[in-house]
Amino acid sequence: MKIDRARRMTGAILPGDSTVGFREYDIPVPGHGEVLIKTKSSTICGSDIRAIYREHLGKGPEGYQGVIAGHEPSGQIVECGPGMRRFADGDRVIIYHISGCGLCYDCRRGYMISCTSEEHRKAYGWQRDGGMAEYILAEEKDLVLLPDSLTYTDGAQVACGLGTVYEGLEKVGISGNDAVLVVGLGPVGLASLMLAKAMGAEKLIGVDVVPERLDIARDLGLVDEVLIAGPDTVERVRALTDGNGCERTIDCSGSEKGRLTCIQATRKWGKSVFIGEGGSVEFQPSPDIIHDQKTIFGSWVTSIWKMEELVERLVRWDIHPEDLVTHRFPLARAGEAYTLMADGKCGKIAIVFDEEVRSNEYP
Ligand SMILES: [Zn+2]
Ligand SMILES: [Zn+2]
Repeated sequence: MKIDRARRMTGAILPGDSTVGFREYDIPVPGHGEVLIKTKSSTICGSDIRAIYREHLGKGPEGYQGVIAGHEPSGQIVECGPGMRRFADGDRVIIYHISGCGLCYDCRRGYMISCTSEEHRKAYGWQRDGGMAEYILAEEKDLVLLPDSLTYTDGAQVACGLGTVYEGLEKVGISGNDAVLVVGLGPVGLASLMLAKAMGAEKLIGVDVVPERLDIARDLGLVDEVLIAGPDTVERVRALTDGNGCERTIDCSGSEKGRLTCIQATRKWGKSVFIGEGGSVEFQPSPDIIHDQKTIFGSWVTSIWKMEELVERLVRWDIHPEDLVTHRFPLARAGEAYTLMADGKCGKIAIVFDEEVRSNEYP
């Protein structure tokens, strides 16, 4: 495709004071092994709000370098640099949101999230330009092919949130044997319910402090039971599971109380995974985990091969992560989009372009 470089593109940046700024940029030219992607959908992540939008909190991998924001992009390749090995013009793609050095131990395992190269590790939307612009420059090695049966808004969510959830659920293993508790029903919690259900979990219980989030989970048909968080949450979960607790528990709240609820509501011999970031937790190892033979996992993002596997399974399961999107905005209204996300009374929020624009979805 011929790119008109006489014109420039708009990109959104996050100054760190709960606002969104806009700047004009040259449309990038792909170098060796790089592609230019026409952005189609770019979803907002909870980590953007936590570490960039309200203030620039992050350090190291979460340090924000003032680049175009957005680390959950999906789009179509419109121009290729020289030296391409697999992808071509016109391919629909998801960007694994961290570009790693490709050669360290973690990159070789496919976990570029954990790349140890200070010089070469760069996350899209954090240390290199991300998806809140009309075009994104990406490296071919960071791409995952998006099947035709998935939309770009399905794909955008795989880039970070869904991939992260899939990794966590795979660590604890989910099947039809399990009652699953998800604490924290923001977009990551909703995605956890969606994937756990697809993996066969028969009893799904969701917990949050925000009533609107419980309503969204229920309206989407992702839960069997919802509980507003309170001092008796653990007892209520046990009451819903014949006094046992859940075989698998997923913390997406990142809060001290949420994590403790997960640990204590896990059934004997059960497994819990912590996905939600930040905060702390205090628990009593002997009664809370040791005597009941419980295991707690930590899980951070995923590998690029698992992301490819997830995409394959989404098609097989015939589920659409875009169902979790409650609001779509054009880039020019990114300010409203981030404000709404920071408020938390919503599902997933997407900035959309071209065929992903559905004007009736703007509130
Ligand atoms: Zn993210
Ligand atoms: Zn590396």
